[in-house]
Amino acid sequence: MQTMNRFVYLDHSATTPVDQKVLEAMLPFFSMDFGNPNSLHAWGRKARQAVDQARDEVSRLINAEPSEIIFTGGGSEADNIAIKGVALAKKDKGRHIITSAIEHHAVLDTCKWLEKEGFDITILPVDEYGTIRPEELRKAIRPDTILVTIHFANNEIGTVQPIEQLGNICREQDVLFHTDAVQAAGHIPIDVKKLPIDLMTMAAHKMYGPKGVGALYIKKGVKIVPLIHGGGQERGLRSGTENTAGIVGFGKAAALASDRLAKGEPEKERNLRDRLIDGILEKIEDAMLTGHRTERLPFHASFCFHYIEGESLLLRLDALGIGASSGSACTSGSLEPSHVLLAIGLPHEIAHGSLRLTLGKDTSEEDIDYVLENLPKVVESLRVMSPYGKRG
Ligand SMILES: *Cc1c(COP(=O)(O)O)cnc(C)c1O
Repeated sequence: MQTMNRFVYLDHSATTPVDQKVLEAMLPFFSMDFGNPNSLHAWGRKARQAVDQARDEVSRLINAEPSEIIFTGGGSEADNIAIKGVALAKKDKGRHIITSAIEHHAVLDTCKWLEKEGFDITILPVDEYGTIRPEELRKAIRPDTILVTIHFANNEIGTVQPIEQLGNICREQDVLFHTDAVQAAGHIPIDVKKLPIDLMTMAAHKMYGPKGVGALYIKKGVKIVPLIHGGGQERGLRSGTENTAGIVGFGKAAALASDRLAKGEPEKERNLRDRLIDGILEKIEDAMLTGHRTERLPFHASFCFHYIEGESLLLRLDALGIGASSGSACTSGSLEPSHVLLAIGLPHEIAHGSLRLTLGKDTSEEDIDYVLENLPKVVESLRVMSPYGKRG
């Protein structure tokens, strides 16, 4: 047995640790500052002020107006509110929605549910890098198209989409454009005043904030039907007493992300990522990078290794103190290869050998060295026992 000498968390696409400063900002709202933001007394006012400040911080991250942000119970909820909310608001105008084959299940399964409810869904294909071709979108838009929902960047293969081109096509055709930016927000600069985006999803826990809180950007003038009815919070679009502590944590995480982006810190992450990618492709035979080489998230590296099984690889890495993923957290554990890897055209046996390594702001050179030293050995030893052939 190898001894465990390091813990290297490389699964930041699944979730990020809560930043210490975020935790500190949140703590008072679990104790002395417990007020309901909807109450008129001092306790309530204190909470309301904190929620307002968080809304300012989240809006500043993407250059939106505070009134264009509603807080939700996470990324999946924001996707549901956006897609179902637009579908219900526009159903008399048309019932056609366009999405892509490599969306997160929060988008894909919402669209599939709407299909059963009488909407018509077009699922756009992607190329071998996981890019949605703008011409494909242009061809798919019809007079009854009411919404296009295409993610900003992919969680499994890291590819960043040509959002500006895709959004411009929607604008020309007068179709609403929603983008799930859960992986991108806080990591690459996004300016909703410059980009043609009508609705955009974010989640705090993918940018060093807490889990269970997200936000939906809704451009001024865009109408959606609410799914959660009640006290009328969040402009009536998401009723329920605000998750004050979570929202405060999201605000702080967004403010810290704005600072990191302003200082150009993702560049450091990008350099480490490139060292990891180059090292792996050099040291391991029959390894391929999945996703786009350059148009990809700065912290994201993903691969397929021939002749091995991703699940066994994860277990061996775990035993070495390395936290990785073989795709999205929701699909790991099942035997079906991910819909994303199949959509970029990989055959089943290769898609099975997938590995995703996603870096964070605190990932060090030493962490990368540790992976580069151990991963090739692990892959080699698994191939020796592989049922997929080669040396097996
Ligand atoms: C994580 C993720 C989600 C889901 O967000 P939750 O806050 O976990 O509900 C949605 N879309 C993408 C692209 C994600 O990576």
